[in-house]
Parts: sequence; structure tokens; C-alpha cells
Amino acid sequence: MKEDEIQKIKDLDRNLIWHPFTQMQEYQEQDPLIIERAEGCRLFDVEGKSYIDGVSSLWLNVHGHRHPALDEAIRKQLDKVAHSTLLGIGNLPSVQLAEQLLKIAPKNLSKVFYSDNGSTSVEVALKMAFQYWQQRGAEKKKKTHFLTLKNAYHGDTLGSVSVGGIDLFHQIFHPLLFKTQALENFDLSQAEAILRERHHEIAACIVEPMIQGAAGMLLQPAGFLRGMRELCDRYEVLLICDEVATGFGRTGKMFAVEHEGVEPDLMCLAKGITGGYLPLAATLATDEIFDGFRGKFEEYKTFFHGHSYTGNPLACAAALANLEIFSQEKVLAQLPKKIECFRKGLERFTTHPHVKEVRQLGLMMGIELVDDKAQGKAYPLELRTAAKVCLEARKGGVLLRPLGDVLVLMPPLAISEVESTQVLDVLFASLQRITEK
Ligand code: PMP
Repeated sequence: MKEDEIQKIKDLDRNLIWHPFTQMQEYQEQDPLIIERAEGCRLFDVEGKSYIDGVSSLWLNVHGHRHPALDEAIRKQLDKVAHSTLLGIGNLPSVQLAEQLLKIAPKNLSKVFYSDNGSTSVEVALKMAFQYWQQRGAEKKKKTHFLTLKNAYHGDTLGSVSVGGIDLFHQIFHPLLFKTQALENFDLSQAEAILRERHHEIAACIVEPMIQGAAGMLLQPAGFLRGMRELCDRYEVLLICDEVATGFGRTGKMFAVEHEGVEPDLMCLAKGITGGYLPLAATLATDEIFDGFRGKFEEYKTFFHGHSYTGNPLACAAALANLEIFSQEKVLAQLPKKIECFRKGLERFTTHPHVKEVRQLGLMMGIELVDDKAQGKAYPLELRTAAKVCLEARKGGVLLRPLGDVLVLMPPLAISEVESTQVLDVLFASLQRITEK
């Protein structure tokens, strides 16, 4: 692009677009980064500069950008139909995808309800859980509440915000939200105490399995997820596992629930489902839940929920290609080497004077920064230390987005060893430069 065209695009971006999770006053004063194209794990801006996609374009991309099989699958589907509804009728790719998804999902899950992003997959799960109990007889009608985890993040629509617990994002909306019961820690005895007392009014418990991503990559202790499954069984509460961030290989297994052999009653999928290409989500359910909605029309047990783009054929075709690449390229089998490469590469961060903790599960990684390590004193929020480190890394050709003062690494599963090394080297040097100031 010519210099004047580039300037025009940047001005339009600053003046017309309201960017999500972005303080626009600050953004409008900066030189915006505008992506024009991508190849593999690299993004290229309008000026032609390349960046390694260190957070998979917000935790989405799986096999790299412009993967030939994915590109081809979408083109092929485009020659047939771009969109056709699932309200009362079907479309081919959505059927084929449901079959393939259920082959790789936990065995107890047998039904697929499509929507189009992570938040809606959670809304669907919450509403299904709620309505399921409403239709199970008079004595279950009180099961209208949800057990949640502190620091949870399940999306930005009001239902998913209600079950979330990140004050910075959620506090202001408090008057609009429904009440939940939050577990303060990953503490099974506390969970048991709550469930023992309140199970007759709790419909479901919702968790991000194994690791809370948006909270800053917080790892749950071994046995926690399994324990929650057992408690939910014991107290007749549904377990919703939100695999929006963790699904599709991100933690080293296809789904995070596999780490503890857990079968959820409802499972939310989005982000990586299309390899990070197109918006698509799915809420997987058991036969037992599905059967609770069957009946004559006039019983009004229908699940009255659906979005315009539910089961979009282009997105489903991409998702089918995504799964095909997983098996063709034996993606999961290659992960242990890549995970180990990051584990080793992250070791030098652990001894850094401004690193409190390094957390990793598979290719989901967080490096928590502190002002004073000995005292455990955090940096003042307004200093935006991790954001500054990420801006510095950008100059070195690595694109990252932090969470508070946690540096987040979540590269595409396709990342090579050379690219991984570059990411870690650039990040470490950026950390040094910013924290020495
Ligand atoms: N659940 C989890 C666990 C997530 O991490 C996210 C997004 N980061 C969501 C739900 C919401 O997904 P979306 O942004 O696609 O609505």
C-alpha cells in the first residue's frame, strides 16, 4: 500500500471504529496497527511488517493462518451455499460436523446445539440447564441458581457476565445481572458445604476446566475438576464445562476435561472450533438433558433460543476441515515437544526479579509480573506494565495482548520451534527493557 493510502486507513480506523476492550481515548492518540494479511503463524500489517501471532488472534487460531486445506474447504462450501438457517430445517455441513464433534467429545455427550461465539455457547448452556429443571416436575422448580468460580470468565453477554467474576470487567454491570453463588477458592470442601446446603436450588455449576484463562491463566489443583464432577453427581446439579478457550488442543489434549477423565453434562465450544477462521460455537448436551425438552408442542418444552447465523455452513465447513487437519497432521501427537520447548524457554522468566509466577498448561501460558517480588507487591494498575512489555515486544515482531499484569502466551498449535524461540527471546528482552526503566 502507498503511504497516503496507509495514513487514510489508519485515520478511518481511529475515527470510525470503536474497538472492543480498548480505551479509545488512548487508542486514538496512538499509531494503530492494521493487519492486512497473514501466513502461517505470522501476521503482516499494512506497512508490510511481520509479527508472530503470539496469542492466536485472541486464542482462536490453531493450525496457522491461510492453511491450504482450511482455505480450500471454505472456498468449496462457498460454491454451494454460504448460509442457510437451522431453525426447523438442516444444512449439510452442520450435520457432518455434529457427527465428527461427537466422535471426539466425551462419550456421554450426544447432541449439538450451534450458536456463533463463546458467550452465546455459554448463554445456551445456562438457559438449557435452567429450563431443564423447570421441566422436571414441581419439586425441581427451585433449581434456578448457578454455582460459579471466583475470577471466572465466560463471555460478555449478560448471562455469561452473571456467571463471571472478574471485577474490572463485570462490576459496573452488577445491577443488571442475576445472582450466583461463587466459590471463593478451588476448594472442594467449600463446594461440598454449599451444595449440601443449597443443592435443591442450584441448577448447575459452571467451570472453565483445569485453567481459568482470562483470570490470568490460573491453574486449578489436580483433582479439583474431578471432585466437582463427583459433587455435582452427588447433589444432582448439572456440570457445565466451558471449553471455549481450552478446547481444540490448547491444553495439550483435545479437550481440557480429558486431563481428569471428566464428562460434563453440557460443554461449551467456540474459538478454535473453526481453526480460528470463522465465528461458530456449539453447546454439547447429554441425551438426558435433550430428552427433558421433548414433548408435544403444546407442552411448551421447546428450547426457544436460536441465532441468525446458527450452524452457518461456511463456518461448519471450516470446522470440519479443522478436525480433519487434527487427524491428518497428527497435531495432538506433536504437542508434547512444543509444550516442552515453551516450558524450558520459560524457565529463565521464573528467576526474573519482576516475575511473580510462571503458569502453563499445554500451550496456555501466563507470566505474572510484580513490582516487588520479595514483598509480593503488585505494580500499580495504572502503570500498565504488562501492556508496555507487549508494546515493546511488538517492536520486535511479536504480537501479544496481556491480561492485567499477566503476560499471556497462547500461540497457534502450529507454531514452530524457531518461532517459539523468537517469541520467548523477544518477550524476555522486552521485559528486561521495560522493568529496568
Ligand atoms: N468462555 C471462555 C472460557 C473464554 O475464554 C471466552 C473468551 N475469551 C468466552 C467464553 C467468550 O467467548 P467469545 O469472546 O467468543 O464470546
